[in-house]
Amino acid sequence: MESSVTLKERYARVKASLPVGVTLVAVSKKRTAEEIMALYVLGHRDFGENYVQELRAKQPLLPADIRWHFIGHLQRSNVKHIVPFIHLVHGVDGAPLLDVLHKRSVAADQVLDVLLQIHIAQEETKHGLSTEEARALVAGWDANRWSALRLRGLMGMATLTEDQALVKREFEGLARLYHELRPMAPDPDSFTTLSMGMSADLDLAIAAGSNMVRVGTALFGERG
Ligand SMILES: *Cc1c(COP(=O)(O)O)cnc(C)c1O
Repeated sequence: MESSVTLKERYARVKASLPVGVTLVAVSKKRTAEEIMALYVLGHRDFGENYVQELRAKQPLLPADIRWHFIGHLQRSNVKHIVPFIHLVHGVDGAPLLDVLHKRSVAADQVLDVLLQIHIAQEETKHGLSTEEARALVAGWDANRWSALRLRGLMGMATLTEDQALVKREFEGLARLYHELRPMAPDPDSFTTLSMGMSADLDLAIAAGSNMVRVGTALFGERG
C-alpha cells in the first residue's frame, strides 16, 4: 500500500496548489488501469489520454463515470473509436477534423465538446493552429455545419524549456487570445475553458489564467 499512500499525497499536493475553479485533468497515458483506478477511488473523475489505441484498451476496464479527455493529436480515422464516450477533445486543429467529429457525433446522437489547440510553443513538433488560423476559424464558425459540436475554448502547450519568461509569455499570449475570441465564439457562454499547464509549468499557467490543467508526472510519478 506504500505506493497508494504516495499517490494520495501527490494528489493532495497537486489539488492544494490549484485555485477554486481550476479543473485538474489527470494525464494517464502509459499508466495501467490499476493506476487509474487508484486515483479514481480517491475521488478523481477527469482523466486525459493521448493515444487512441491505449484509451480504447483501458476505457472498457474502468468505471463509466470517468470523464475522458482526449489530449493527443487525433487522426480523423480514429475519431469513430472515441466519440461514443469521450468527454472533451482538447486537440482540434482545423475544419477537416471538425467535420469528422461532427459527423460521428451526429451518428452517435450526441453533442460533443471540443477545444481548439493553439500552437504557442517554439517547437515545430507541437501541433495546433496559429493565432491567425484560430481567429479565422472562430470568426467563420458555421453553426449548421458543426451543429453537433460545442466549442468550449482553447488548449495549448508551452515550449519545453528552462526559460520561465518564455513560458510565461506563451501562456499570457494564449490567455489573451482566449479572451479575444470568446465574444466571437458561436456560444460565448459555453466558451469557458482555457486548458494550459502541465506538471512542469502548472504555476505559470495558473498565474496566466488557466482554468484547466493537464497533469501526469506530478500525480503518478515519472513515466517509464
Ligand atoms: C503528457 C501530457 C501532459 C502531462 O504531462 P506531465 O509533464 O506528465 O504533467 C499534458 N498535456 C499533454 C498534451 C500531454 O501530452
